[in-house]
Amino acid sequence: MDLLRELDPEVYEAITAEEHRQRDDLELIASENYTSAAVMEAVGSVLTNKYAEGLPGKRYYGGCQFVDRAEQLAIDRVKQLFGAEHANVQPHSGASANQAVYFAALEIGDPVLAMDLAQGGHLTHGMKLNYSGRWFPTVGYGVDPKTERIDYDRMTTLAREHKPKLILAGASAYPRAIDFNRFAEVAREVGATFFVDMAHIAGLVAGGEHENPVPVADFVSTTTHKTLRGPRGGVVLCRKDWAKKLDSGVFPGLQGGPLMHVIAGKAVCFGEALRPEFKDYARQVVANAKVLAEELTRAGFRLVSGGTDNHLVLIDMTSKGLTGKIAESALGRAGITVNKNLIPFDARKPMDPSGIRMGTPALTTRGMREDAIRQVAAFIVEVLEAPDDAARAERVRDAIREFARDYPVPADAASVAASGRTR
Ligand SMILES: *Cc1c(COP(=O)(O)O)cnc(C)c1O
Repeated sequence: MDLLRELDPEVYEAITAEEHRQRDDLELIASENYTSAAVMEAVGSVLTNKYAEGLPGKRYYGGCQFVDRAEQLAIDRVKQLFGAEHANVQPHSGASANQAVYFAALEIGDPVLAMDLAQGGHLTHGMKLNYSGRWFPTVGYGVDPKTERIDYDRMTTLAREHKPKLILAGASAYPRAIDFNRFAEVAREVGATFFVDMAHIAGLVAGGEHENPVPVADFVSTTTHKTLRGPRGGVVLCRKDWAKKLDSGVFPGLQGGPLMHVIAGKAVCFGEALRPEFKDYARQVVANAKVLAEELTRAGFRLVSGGTDNHLVLIDMTSKGLTGKIAESALGRAGITVNKNLIPFDARKPMDPSGIRMGTPALTTRGMREDAIRQVAAFIVEVLEAPDDAARAERVRDAIREFARDYPVPADAASVAASGRTR
């Protein structure tokens, strides 16, 4: 970025500081990942200059012949990846993807049944300050207080009682596999449209590590930047009979010009996810999360639902006399990035909750396997045993810098490989 350094040193410095943070620290935020260098090249390309309202072959602007190719590749690849009949790859984010589905399937005021935010759902699943909660009266289902797994019986009762027009399955902080068939049956029974938001687990679905909702759902949305490891953005998949409504829900319903550089990055991401190596990646993400769960349990932390089936763990910090906020800042000082999170039936407040959410997608991308994750867990435990000990945090931070060097981020790994080739 020599030009940027010269022309705008302030922005350049913000970017390089972030680059160092991503390289030196341990990224355990469950919704984050490192894209490949190829994805970043596509996102940093001249496609950012192009207006392309409409769809490939049906644009409102001239000069779209090349961006059409990129978007068609993204569409074809994501349909193949998930076995979908139709795909729209234009949503700018997961939140816009969901909004497009609401526009396609509902009228304002239609009732929705979705997972409660406080029990692991997402803002766009009916939170009262979000568009979803403001426009669509939403009833929330949740988890069983004992097992802390989705209470499917209660969800069924709520569906029969409230007769929602749409049932939404999917979560942001749920460590267990979701039984999409169970939801699909209930949706069929009450005549609701069935919508799955697989934002968190799409990479696991692509890699065969979680059941694929596409065969049983009317709509499936996802982000592309979480376990799927692509650029920041959204996608919606649907059955053929919903295709027209979905496409017009995205444009002109919701957006103007699509971000063609990001769509090119999505095409690259889907191409990567179609390769056999991505299956190994998804398998390792889940294996690593299991090891993290085991190690933290062994150290005396209580995990919500007692463990994990997917890429994340939710830890009840009150089991060690801590809170989410205290744990987040203590770990942050040592170079371990996590986020505080509500746990089911949390007695504390969203800004100061009981839990910490941790995920393994980013560390797995850096090449960490079970042994490395055991070491990461040891760092975490060491810090949380004395959260106020600044000297200890500093010591762990130094050890982490050293340790992290053995696990290059994708951009560094790619440039090392490239320099090896030219030598
Ligand atoms: C992350 C997430 C989203 C929203 O994605 P953004 O790109 O941040 O808008 C939607 N639904 C679920 C379940 C998520 O986890």
